[in-house]
This record gives sequence, C-alpha cells and structure tokens, in this order.
Amino acid sequence: MQVRITVSFPYEAPVSQSLFERASAVTPGGVNSPVRAFRAVGGTPRFMVSGAGPYLTDADGREYVDLVCSWGPMILGHSHPEVIAAVQDAVSRGTSFGTPGAGEVELAEEIVARIEPVEQVRLVSSGTEATMSAIRLARGFTGRPKVVKFAGCYHGHVDALLAAAGSGVATFGLPDTPGVTGAQAGDTIVLPYNDLEAVRTAFTAHPGEIACVITEASPGNMGVVPPLPGFNQGLKDICSDNGALYISDEVMTGFRVSKSGWYGIDGVRPDLMTFGKVMGGGFPAAAFGGRADVMAHLAPAGPVYQAGTLSGNPIATAAGVAQLRLLDDAAYEKVDAVSAELRALVTEALAKEGVAHRLQVAGNMFSVFFTGADVTNYDEAKAQESFRFTAFFHSMLAQGVYLPPSAFESWFVSTAHDTQAVERIAAALPAAARAAAEATE
Ligand code: PLP
Repeated sequence: MQVRITVSFPYEAPVSQSLFERASAVTPGGVNSPVRAFRAVGGTPRFMVSGAGPYLTDADGREYVDLVCSWGPMILGHSHPEVIAAVQDAVSRGTSFGTPGAGEVELAEEIVARIEPVEQVRLVSSGTEATMSAIRLARGFTGRPKVVKFAGCYHGHVDALLAAAGSGVATFGLPDTPGVTGAQAGDTIVLPYNDLEAVRTAFTAHPGEIACVITEASPGNMGVVPPLPGFNQGLKDICSDNGALYISDEVMTGFRVSKSGWYGIDGVRPDLMTFGKVMGGGFPAAAFGGRADVMAHLAPAGPVYQAGTLSGNPIATAAGVAQLRLLDDAAYEKVDAVSAELRALVTEALAKEGVAHRLQVAGNMFSVFFTGADVTNYDEAKAQESFRFTAFFHSMLAQGVYLPPSAFESWFVSTAHDTQAVERIAAALPAAARAAAEATE
C-alpha cells in the first residue's frame, strides 16, 4: 500500500515506483526488511543501484548523500577500493567451502585483539543470529531460563527478544508480534531503559532465575539514547552479584564508535558481546564472544549447540578483515569530526526555525528527536513530534540527502563524507528545517 504524502516541491521517482510495484507483487510489502518500505514516512522507497564514497545513486539516476550507510556497516563509504579488491581476490578463489578457512581465523583474531573482554569469538551471519546464540549460551551456561531486556532496545528479530511491551517494574514480555508465542516471550522480562531500580526489583522478584541481562551498549534503535552515567556499570554489577551474565549488544556500536566500539568509550566489561554490521564490511558477517570459560560451553567444545552453513564465509570474512584493518585511529577521528560538523549544522538550522529538538549523540552516532525534553527511554522517545521528522525527511530526500526513513533510527556517517558531501547537506538543511517548523499532524 502506498501512503500519500504532501511535500512542498515536486519530486518523482518513476523507476523506483515501478520497481516497488513489481516488488510488492512478489515480496510482502515490497521489501526484504520492513523499515526500507518508507511506511513511517510515506512515499516511494528509493531503489538504489550503486554507491560510491558518501553517495548512493537510485534507479532514476538521482544521487543522494547517504546518511544511512547501510544502517551502519559502510563506515569507509561505499565501494572502498581496498575492500572491493579484497572481495574480488577472495571471490576469485571460490565462494564457500563449508570447511574452516584462514579468513575466519584472521577476522576472529582482529576482533579479539581490539576488544579486551572478548577472549573467544564465534562467527555467524547476522546480528539476529549473534544475539539469539548469545542468549542460548547464557541460558545453557547458567542453567536459568529468564532474560532481561529493555524497552526500545532492538536485538534483531529473535522470538524471545521481540517482547518490548510494558513499562514500570518487571513487566512480563507480551509478544510484540503475531507468531511469537507466550511461551517464547514468557521468560523475557522487559524493563524501562536507564532504570537500574527496575533491574534490582526484577532480580529480587526472580531469585536464581535470570540467566542474563542483554542491552544495546548504547541504544540506537529508538533513536540515539545513550546510557546515563553508571547505567552499564550498574547492570554489570547487578549481574555479577546475582550470578547472571551481562550481555552487551554491540551489533550497531561495535567497531563504529571507536576501534573497540562502545566498550572503548565506557570500559564496562561484559561477559558476552555481540557484533555485526561494520565487522562484515557490507557482507553478512556477525559474531558473539566473550569470556573463554563461557564460550567453552559452545559446541563442539561444549554442550550448547550452535552452527551455520555460511558462518565464516570467505567473501564476508575477507571484506570484514579488509575494512577493520583500514579502521585505525585516524579513521575514527575523521568519522567523529564529520559527525560533529553535521550535528552543529543540523542544530543551527533547526534552531533558526525555532523547531524544538534534542540532538542526541553516542560517539559518532546521532539522531534528532523533535521534542523539547531530553530522551532517556523509549516512552520519552515515542513522545516526540514524529510528524516533523516526516516533513524534514522528505525535504532532505527531495534535495538529494538520504536519511533513515524513521524518526527512531540513528544517522550514520563515514570516512568518505568529505567537504563536498557536507556542503550538500548544509545546503539542504534550511528548507528541511522550515518544512519541519511548518509541519502539522
Ligand atoms: N542488535 C542491534 C543493536 C541491532 O541494531 C541490530 C540490527 O539493526 C541487530 C541486533 C540485528 O542485526 P541483523 O539485522 O544483522 O540481524
């Protein structure tokens, strides 16, 4: 179904429109991952045909400055020559062997070298697989059934983690989607983010039953809502005191916000961690890892089963290794600097138009909330005036800037976002800010 939108200037995408119609005939909603369908903002999703540096080109031949970066992975920009060369070299030797390979060892070594709490790591193909497997391992290791997660934190579409309902203390997870049974979500305890008291209360209410607390290291899936000072350390301490594991989901922040992800920023030592996105260099590679004594429970070393036909795929590992090796201190300084420059420009444009907003930051990740109040949890995130984002988004799109098509997503930049790309964004911002100011529900 197409949503009708009104924008202040005409813009069309006939080839994308026609592809979307064909896609909708053969694929539910016309997309292979829901947010791509533009349902939150309306309009025609752009079908992209190529990417180079900070730019994407759509099927209608229009070029956009990309502030999605494939939802995080493309931290070196699109088609980085050294990543492409590594991929071409790997492809020339075959695409999948179903045996161990040197690339897997190199990628695992790269991860273990960067992130001190990760003593051992298992490679998988998606962030969803990583969190699903980490939770299974935590349950297997502790022999306990329950999992604590936080409302607004997304950990992939794992059945047990699609329970995000409820607020207040120790709300038992109600499945967020048809297809997840009460039994699958019933051992999930959903708590408000940034509320340590709620976590303490849950542990008191369920002594000896909670296997793990899983949290986004710094959430980016309700927009950017960083942990309040002491929150992650508090989680770690409560877990340690109660014999539960602290799982830090760094699928989004890992290798993006610093060389060693959010761990490199707050230094709180998780028992297990999950990774994806950047570590795959644009290919399906993800991982979970952590304490060697916990990882030793994983098959074939231990009894907790986990496997994958394409795990450690040679093309994906070659891309991941190439990308990680290019991500030195200078690369992160560049991404941080571009992020800071953009944030200043966005704030300036919105302030000039008198638009109430909060620009929230986690390392080089950031997002804008259209609200006058700070956002520290999911309820506060949902209280923003999302309709202003819709107007802002379409104005930027019409001017050739591709933002995440939802008010509840982080924006991502790369080392390839140069002066020219930033200038294009700067030129688009005044009209977009005006559109946000003038928007009505
Ligand atoms: N965990 C976090 C924090 C994520 O942001 C995501 C995806 O956006 C996932 C897990 C799931 O990863 P994937 O989409 O690769 O399954």
